[in-house]
Amino acid sequence: MDQKGILIVVSGFSGSGKGTLMKELLARHPDTYALSISATTRRPREGEADGREYFFVTKEEFEKMIAKGELIEYAKYVENYYGTPRGYVEQKLREGKDVILEIEIQGALNVKKMFPDTLLMFVTPPSAGELKKRLIGRGTETLDVIESRMDRACEEAEGMENYDYLIVNDSLDRCVGEMHAIIRSEHRRSSRNREFMQKIREDLASMKR
Ligand code: 5GP
Repeated sequence: MDQKGILIVVSGFSGSGKGTLMKELLARHPDTYALSISATTRRPREGEADGREYFFVTKEEFEKMIAKGELIEYAKYVENYYGTPRGYVEQKLREGKDVILEIEIQGALNVKKMFPDTLLMFVTPPSAGELKKRLIGRGTETLDVIESRMDRACEEAEGMENYDYLIVNDSLDRCVGEMHAIIRSEHRRSSRNREFMQKIREDLASMKR
């Protein structure tokens, strides 16, 4: 089988719980997945560490990364820049890991355009009411920012059809299992196994009487 890693994009409304889902998926399968760490110009939240959740950079540093071509993609999200550093992603894919980018929709669509065999997954809470409840419950943002994020969710909801799979996050345990199963199936797609098919064809041909 072709052992190249798959590039996976996970998007979801702010407050959909996708961050927690990703952490759990990686904890369960540390040798299978690599999670890309983005650069951002937003301030760290309480409990976030530089180089763990994000690389926290200034606007000037971010613009330098863009100019040097160090980002695979980047987007502006509620007044801040977010982008995916290229080096780590390329290295992990080469190592055969499935690399997960947890990014918003603009970035997701750009990645899909550049790398058409990217697997796109969208995480949503079971309802809009539940989303607002979670954003308020998180207690890390002002009401103004929460409203901006709800507005942004409204826009992002228009783009859900562009994703290959929808993950309804009602139970952490079930969703993590579901995502892992979807990714495993994705590896079995015939279009991802061209070398294997070619080899079997050639071997069969050589065995012909
Ligand atoms: P947060 O500020 O809540 O950590 O992230 C805000 C949004 O930015 C989320 O939807 C998150 O997925 C997205 N995001 C994080 N990193 C990147 C990135 O590198 N590129 C893009 N396009 N979006 C990102």
